[in-house]
Amino acid sequence: MQTIWAEQALVGDRWAEAVSVVVDDSGRIASVTEHASPAGVRVGVLLPAPVNLHSHAFQRAMAGLTERRGPSGRDSFWTWRQLMYRFLDALTPEHAEAIAAFVQMEMLEAGYAAVAEFHYLHHRPDGAPYDDLGEMSARMAAAAAQSGIGLTLLPVLYEQAGCAGDRLGPGQVRFGNDLDRFATLLGRADELVGALGADASVGVAPHSLRAVSRPSLAAAVALADGRPVHMHIAEQVAEVDEVTAAYGKRPVEWLLANHDVDQTWCLVHCTQMTADETAGLARSGAVAGLCPITESSLGDGIFNGVDYLARGGRFGVGSDSNIRIALSEELRTLEYTQRLQYRGRNLLVTDGRSTGRSLFDAAVAGGAQSVQRQSGRIAPGCWADLLVLDTTAVDLEGRRGDSLLDSFIFAGDDRLVGELWSAGRHVVRGGRHIHRDAIVGRYRRTLHGLRDLL
Ligand code: ZN
Repeated sequence: MQTIWAEQALVGDRWAEAVSVVVDDSGRIASVTEHASPAGVRVGVLLPAPVNLHSHAFQRAMAGLTERRGPSGRDSFWTWRQLMYRFLDALTPEHAEAIAAFVQMEMLEAGYAAVAEFHYLHHRPDGAPYDDLGEMSARMAAAAAQSGIGLTLLPVLYEQAGCAGDRLGPGQVRFGNDLDRFATLLGRADELVGALGADASVGVAPHSLRAVSRPSLAAAVALADGRPVHMHIAEQVAEVDEVTAAYGKRPVEWLLANHDVDQTWCLVHCTQMTADETAGLARSGAVAGLCPITESSLGDGIFNGVDYLARGGRFGVGSDSNIRIALSEELRTLEYTQRLQYRGRNLLVTDGRSTGRSLFDAAVAGGAQSVQRQSGRIAPGCWADLLVLDTTAVDLEGRRGDSLLDSFIFAGDDRLVGELWSAGRHVVRGGRHIHRDAIVGRYRRTLHGLRDLL
């Protein structure tokens, strides 16, 4: 049992004072008491910690290496992807584990309690499987065991290089599986993740409409059997054009017309949607997986956030390429892109709450829904996914209620995150991960080893 006592806490959908939270030994919240006497770990502001709903861990090691123009004079997502393929020629399972542990540590220090790892790097550089088909999945699980993050592993089905069924190119063979082998891999992922804490889980990720055939998409959804289904959907204009040419409909439009998209789905990016697609996605109850920092970095476009929210659409945020792990900045970028688009202020707001509070509440609820994690609320029975804002920080001086979140998201940064628990695991203390030195040391050695290969 652990007891946490907070000066202020977001309990249910309101702020409460002098809150005592008891966490049982399974990592769940056992009780929440307001106006309690201080006892146990005393903190400033206690919040439910969100899920980072979209990550490709290994890409963290490429951060900052794709900020030059290609020879054509015009850079785009596609030149970024070329570097990723070169990088993949060099990456070993040891590298992948070290990078994943590092980026998970950064996520925890930023305030995320859990991550959905959209995991597509499965095989050796020549495309042959490792002796254990789940070698790379095992590395993701091992990283989570070290970092203590709540892992939802999403093995990715990737079978073709484009809608026409093109064979995988040299840069893609590490990702490829047919359906039979994918089903085997999924079973292996279940075994591996089953050995982590009870809060860890597995979902299914058909990569995209480009990379998975229509019958295979249906089969992958069947394999998920009610568990989370995550899919890249409409990120780049070129992708939308290719899908439209092949399928006769735009990606979101086609998916909504051909699958029962419901609350078990998470559609990642959605930066290219018409008004009808926006309304349809909002109606479906699925979560839009938004990654505003990566979408800015790659020049993807701007999500129709104002329309989507007005129609009750659900969303969460993810760090995707992991070029920068920053919860506050992810939410700020989401709102600021809307402000630039619509030339207004305070746009992603719901029922009288402040903008920061609205963004935070939506991301916490949507992130939890996207991986079916019993979290997102400080309430008995939920996993104790908890983050603490340090009220001794100058940016929070004198702030109360919603203005705490506004100051964190718009004026501060993740240095305000003091403590973090993931399913009761108290892994960030005083702003530092408990295994920071070991994790950083191994990551540095990994980067040093990769340096000459890039
Ligand atoms: Zn992605």
